[in-house]
Amino acid sequence: MAVRKILLLGNPILRTRCSAVKEFSSKETQRTIVDLRDTLDEFRNRHGFGRGIAAPQIGATPSIIFIRLGGLDAVINPKVIKRSTQMIELWDDCFSFPDILVKVRRHKRIEISYVDESGERKTLKAADAISELLQHEIDHINGVLAIDRAIRKRDIILRSEFPRLS
Ligand SMILES: [Zn+2]
Repeated sequence: MAVRKILLLGNPILRTRCSAVKEFSSKETQRTIVDLRDTLDEFRNRHGFGRGIAAPQIGATPSIIFIRLGGLDAVINPKVIKRSTQMIELWDDCFSFPDILVKVRRHKRIEISYVDESGERKTLKAADAISELLQHEIDHINGVLAIDRAIRKRDIILRSEFPRLS
C-alpha cells in the first residue's frame, strides 16, 4: 500500500499510451490498483475533490483506472464501445493540473467494456457524471488530457478565477 506522487502537466509519462493488462492477478497489477486507490483517497481527503485517477498519473503505464463513483473500483483495459450523439458541456478538472479548469464537451452516454479486479470481463452503460468521468480517465490511458479537449482556447482558466465567471 502506498500513496504515490501525482505527476503534473508537462511530465511526458502523462502523454504515454498505456498497454493492456494481460495478467490480472500479477503482483504488479494488484500493486498498481492498490496504489491508485490509496493515492486517490489521500488526494480526496486533502483537496476535497476527485472521483477518479488513471495509472499514468502515478507514473505507471498499464491500462488501469480507479473510480470512486457509481460503485466502481478498479477498471482495467477500459474501452468505449458506444457513444451517444448527444453531448454535454462541463468544467473539468484534473489532479495533474489542480489549479486549472477546462470547459470540455463529452458524450452524455457511453458504454464501455472493461475487466474488473478479479479478471472478469464486463460492460457498463454510463450517463452524465459517471459517463464524463470515465471519458476523462480513459483519455488518460491514451495519453490525452482534458486541456486537449478545451472547446475554445479561452476555456482554460485558473480555478481561482472561476467564481468571477458569469
Ligand atoms: Zn485527470
